Amino acid sequence: MALVVQKYGGTSVGSTERIKAVAQRVIKTVQQGNSLVVVVSAMGKTTDTLVNLAKEVSTSPCRREMDMLLSTGEQVSIALLSMALKEMGQSAVSLTGAQVGIVTEAEHSRARILQIKTDRLEKHLNQGEVVVVAGFQGISTSEDLEITTLGRGGSDTSAVALAVSLKANRCEIYTDVPGILTTDPRIVPEAQLMEEITADEMLELASLGAKVLHPRAVEIARNYGMPLVVLSSWSDNPGTKVVSPLPKPRSLTGLEITKAVDGVELDNDQAKVALLRIPDSPGIAARLFNEIAQQNLDVDLIIQSIHEGNLNDIAFTVVKKVIKQAEAVAEAIAPSLRSDPTQLDEAEVMVDKRVAKVEISGAGMIGRPGIAAKMFRTLATEGINIEMISTSEVKVSCVIDEADCDRALSSLCQAFEVDSSSLASSTENNPINPDNIPAVRGVALDHNQARLALRHVPDRPGMAAKIFGLLAEKNISVDMIIQSQRCHILNDVPTRDVAFTVAQADGETAKQALEELVKDLDCGEVSVDSAIAKISIVGAGMIGKPGVAAKFFTALAQEQINIQMIATSEIKISCVVAEDEGIKALKAVHDAFNLAGDLEVEVPA
Ligand code: ASP
Ligand code: MG
Repeated sequence: MALVVQKYGGTSVGSTERIKAVAQRVIKTVQQGNSLVVVVSAMGKTTDTLVNLAKEVSTSPCRREMDMLLSTGEQVSIALLSMALKEMGQSAVSLTGAQVGIVTEAEHSRARILQIKTDRLEKHLNQGEVVVVAGFQGISTSEDLEITTLGRGGSDTSAVALAVSLKANRCEIYTDVPGILTTDPRIVPEAQLMEEITADEMLELASLGAKVLHPRAVEIARNYGMPLVVLSSWSDNPGTKVVSPLPKPRSLTGLEITKAVDGVELDNDQAKVALLRIPDSPGIAARLFNEIAQQNLDVDLIIQSIHEGNLNDIAFTVVKKVIKQAEAVAEAIAPSLRSDPTQLDEAEVMVDKRVAKVEISGAGMIGRPGIAAKMFRTLATEGINIEMISTSEVKVSCVIDEADCDRALSSLCQAFEVDSSSLASSTENNPINPDNIPAVRGVALDHNQARLALRHVPDRPGMAAKIFGLLAEKNISVDMIIQSQRCHILNDVPTRDVAFTVAQADGETAKQALEELVKDLDCGEVSVDSAIAKISIVGAGMIGKPGVAAKFFTALAQEQINIQMIATSEIKISCVVAEDEGIKALKAVHDAFNLAGDLEVEVPA
């Protein structure tokens, strides 16, 4: 007999009719010989309605009372679903988060789960009852048994946490869309359903997938290896499987506050090529990486920094043995990029064979702004200068001098308490073979970011640590971080530009914070630009496949879209473009990777 945890979202329990339909599905699952724990959200838009009620009586309701209020929504659903089940002859019992013993931090409105007591659940399951549990809520034991909530969308997280605590066979998330789609169907109606996706891909697609599945739920599933599937409660279609790598052993206490970083990796087979002072116009990155792809060279990191005047730098890394070929391609292209061939201070190629890449990775980085800062601080304490930085949702990569690599590795392992036995590459124990899956699984567009640029940051160890440490203190999560290649010599001090993106809502706060820092550190000005869009392609299948970046950049070039920034991780490539070109870019890229299909996906309003 299998133990299954099913979760039904707000629309799935949006009316008493829908609740009865859910009850039927639950009973069907029981009749197939399963034991069942069902987690439900508040009915329809109940949580939003409650938020609005609060606003009517208070301009800034405190988080404790908000939790008291919002947790009532789920309580209505569990009672009604239990009643419906009993009415249909199925024994069932409803339990609130507190009754189950979903123990969380004493942190109102964004509590993380510490532990789930399973005794009471098991007792009811053993009596043949379906246990209906309120999602999104828990209880703190540290103080006075406070009711807490996990943050909006948190019922998914409740469900997966219950599944891992009960060692369930699988967790099914029922929602109002058929599963995870290749992109946002509201913008691209040809978006297709994915049969499966890896947890890492899902996390990298956070800005696309978060609406369907709470990233914290994916993080728990990945950490504990819980089979997860997202499917529609309106049909019998199989939905999308979220596949996790084989998990490392982990305790169930401190469930959601386990290590944010679970891998530190070093790659010293890297060499860097930089093209400096190239024109900031559409098509350049496409040309460069098409040539590289024609030579069948696989590039690893690619970064393009912000432009100064109308010039850009693009840098990339390849394995050392192909550096000559990569350099030759860059050298061949450079002259044609000079607007005035007689002017020698234009496009120039710079090669560095003595570099290494260190990376930290882990699902727990999402929404925890201190992690990247801690990496930079650790390197700074060792006196290690960072030459390139590239970040994604679940990874921070730094290119450093090869001579520093041993110290970098050991200090990072120590700082993040990762021992060398867990240095395995993140792809190593993945049940999915990158050769058998599409290079690109999905494309995400994020309109909600602002870009900050900090000019002329002195090029010495510790600067990134200061900048991102300060932002972490202000609780600002930073998304793409890019450090320029070119050094400007300013008053005899070499300097670099640093650019990064944050949520638009944090843009001004970040700018103000940095302006203080600029005075102390002698940097240049800080600028913020909200009129940007970030477009990302994600796929575990792009590893070791040349030409993926080239195809991406070509799709943008064909639409005459200028790329303002580029950052990559192993399974993701992101470009920043002008905001008003975002949708055009998304459509073109989705098409270029043949992700479109003719299945009509119904999108609820
Ligand atoms: N009802 C809560 C919300 O709307 C939790 C959930 O549905 O996941 O945020
Ligand atoms: Mg949801």
